[in-house]
Amino acid sequence: MATDDPYDFRFDCGATWLNLLATRGRAFGSHPVERLDSAERLAEWLRASELAPGRDVTPEDLRRTWRLRECLRALALATVEGRTPPEEAIAELGAFLGAEDRVELTGGDRLRRRPPATIDDALVRIARQAVDHLAGVDRDGLKACPEDDCRGVFTDPAGRRRWCPSPSCASRGRVRAHRARLAASQAAAAPAELRRS
Ligand SMILES: [Zn+2]
Repeated sequence: MATDDPYDFRFDCGATWLNLLATRGRAFGSHPVERLDSAERLAEWLRASELAPGRDVTPEDLRRTWRLRECLRALALATVEGRTPPEEAIAELGAFLGAEDRVELTGGDRLRRRPPATIDDALVRIARQAVDHLAGVDRDGLKACPEDDCRGVFTDPAGRRRWCPSPSCASRGRVRAHRARLAASQAAAAPAELRRS
């Protein structure tokens, strides 16, 4: 159930790696919202993403996750905005991809993957998903939220969305657009008024 708690995780950005980016809200504002603020919260996020490793999550794991998240954010925004991707972020992502993570499937009630044994395995899966998305044709379906403090990246294959899935961005943006339209129509009406008088 969706609530208005700004610390709730978002799972509606279109892919796990994009949901990871959204664990830091208002990332470019003066008061970013860190939703992964402890190893316990990271464990919770990994469980919800079906990526819980088979051992405890540590504060060092949290720091590694933040590093992956921020290098992916830099690469995602560069891709969406058509800029040259930063070299350091490419090197950092390459380092994450170096870890071994074989795909092992299990049957049962539905298709499943063997759970990641370690946090590195979990991060490799997220990093691979991001690379496939950013370096493949699906990158054309990615968009960045136009709100200056957000710039959240999300998938929009149908090309209909303007803001990220966060309701606060859409409502702030719509209010601003409405005011701008109002001001424009008043400005357009003013010369007519003058002509009539
Ligand atoms: Zn947004």
